[in-house]
Amino acid sequence: MSDLTSPLSCFGRALRQALCAEAAAQTEREICGLIGARAGRAVSHYPIRNGAADPRQRYAMDPAAQIAAFKLMRAREETLAAIYHSHPDGAPIPSPRDAREWTYPEALCLIVGLAGGTPELRAWRWTGQGFAAVVLPDD
Ligand SMILES: [Zn+2]
Repeated sequence: MSDLTSPLSCFGRALRQALCAEAAAQTEREICGLIGARAGRAVSHYPIRNGAADPRQRYAMDPAAQIAAFKLMRAREETLAAIYHSHPDGAPIPSPRDAREWTYPEALCLIVGLAGGTPELRAWRWTGQGFAAVVLPDD
């Protein structure tokens, strides 16, 4: 399958580095959060507490923190562009559970994989049947 075009026109290097740094600083748990965009450009990220009982194996965004992030995003006139999480022990590829529990079909799925020692960020788009790889635009 060929890579899909990103719905975002811009995903800056600073944002990319921030997500990788956040994941690399928390190797004992999956990080998770939201990416806000304005006019097709990813502009902010909102780290959300992972409230899962087994946060190394999965993520579950803390509901109150998620609502607060959505409110802030709306106040800044941003829209939800992507949801990110990390795989502390794995590759940046969606797991079967990621696919099963995906509830935002319009948003990109960003995953930072830490298995290789260096954080690797990859983007995925829900097709209705599964995730297809997306190439993120550079600055
Ligand atoms: Zn995952």
